[in-house]
Amino acid sequence: MPKHTSRLLKRLRNDFQLSILTLMGLFGIMGISPYAVYRLAEGNYLVSLADTTIVLSTLFAVLYAWRTGDTVKPGIYLAIIFSAGSTLIAINLGVNGLFWIYPLILFNFFMVSPGKAMLATLMVLAALVGHALIVPGTVFESSYQMVSFLVTGMMASVLTCIFAYRTRSQRDQLQALAIQDPLTGARNRRAMNEELKIAVASHRRHGNSHAVLVMDLDHFKRINDTFGHQAGDQVLVAFVELIKRSSRQEDRLFRFGGEEFLLLLPNTDKPGLRAAAAHLQRQVAQDLQGPGGPVTMSVGGAILRRGEHWESWLQRADQRLYRAKSAGRNRSILEEAADLGQQPVG
Ligand code: GH3
Ligand code: MG
Ligand code: MG
Repeated sequence: MPKHTSRLLKRLRNDFQLSILTLMGLFGIMGISPYAVYRLAEGNYLVSLADTTIVLSTLFAVLYAWRTGDTVKPGIYLAIIFSAGSTLIAINLGVNGLFWIYPLILFNFFMVSPGKAMLATLMVLAALVGHALIVPGTVFESSYQMVSFLVTGMMASVLTCIFAYRTRSQRDQLQALAIQDPLTGARNRRAMNEELKIAVASHRRHGNSHAVLVMDLDHFKRINDTFGHQAGDQVLVAFVELIKRSSRQEDRLFRFGGEEFLLLLPNTDKPGLRAAAAHLQRQVAQDLQGPGGPVTMSVGGAILRRGEHWESWLQRADQRLYRAKSAGRNRSILEEAADLGQQPVG
C-alpha cells in the first residue's frame, strides 16, 4: 500500500471524530450534488446555487478538519447544515422525508457536544411540528402521526444523549489516565514525548523559543533506604506540588523516571530559563522537606535549537544534569561545558 494511503487510513482509525465527519461529509456531498445539477437543468438557478454552496462548504469543512486537525468547528457547521437541510426536506416531502430525522439525530450526537446536539434536535422537532400546526396538512398525515413522531424522536434523542454523554466522560477519563503518573499526578513519559514533539513543531512553524529543565532529586536513594519507600513517595508528591506552585501556568511538568522530572517551558529564552532554574532551585532547597531534613535537586537545562530533534534536545539537558551532579549537586547547568555555565545556587 502506498505510504500516504496508509497514513490517511491510520488517521481515520485513530481519530473517530475525523472519520465520522469525513463519512457524513461525503454522504452530504454525494447526496446533494445530483440535486444541484438537476435544479440547474430545470432552470431553478437559485436552488441550484444554494445546493452548490452547501456541497462546496461541506467539502471545505472536511478539508479544513483534515488540514488543521480541528473537528469541532467543522462538526458544528455540518450539524447546522444537515439539521436545516433535513428539516427542509421533511417539510417538502412529508412522511417520506421524516425518516431522515432519525439518522440526523445520531449524526448530531456524534459530531457535537451532547448539549449542542440536543439543542439542534429540539429545534428540528419544533420546526417540523410548528410548520405542521401553522400550515395544517403539511409534514404529517394526522395528529396521531405527529405525536408518534414527536415521542419516538424524543426517545431517540434522550437515549443517544445518555449514550453520548457516557462515552464522552469515559473517553475523557481514559485520556487523563493515559497521560498521568498515578503517584504524583504529573504528566507521564508518554505525554512528555508528545509535548516535546509538539514544541519542536511549534518552534519550526512560529520560531518561538522553548526550553526544558531536567530535574533530579539529590541522594534520593538515601531517603528510601533510611525511612522507607513510602516516605520517598511522599517527598515525590510534595516535590511535584512545589514545582507546580512555583512555575508558570503554561509550563508543563512530566515525571519521566523514578525521581527525574522534566519541566517544559514554552516561550522561554535564555535569560528566562536562567531565572526559572534559579527560582525553582531555591524554592526546592528552601521548602522541600524530607523526613531527614531538606531535600535538594540538580538541574540541567537546554533551549531548543533550530532544526534540532526533540531527543537530542532532551539529551543535551540530561548531559548537563549529570554535569551538575558531578559538580557537587544542588545546582543548575544550562550551558555547554565550554561556556563555563555552572551556577551554584543556595
Ligand atoms: P543522585 O543524587 O545521584 O541523583 O542520587 P540518587 O540516590 O537520587 O539517585 P539514584 O538514581 O541512585 O537513586 C534513585 C532512587 O529513586 C532509586 C529508586 O529506588 C528510587 N525510586 C525510583 N522510583 C521511585 C518511586 O516511585 N518511589 C520511591 N519511593 N522511590 C523511587
Ligand atoms: Mg537522584
Ligand atoms: Mg535519578
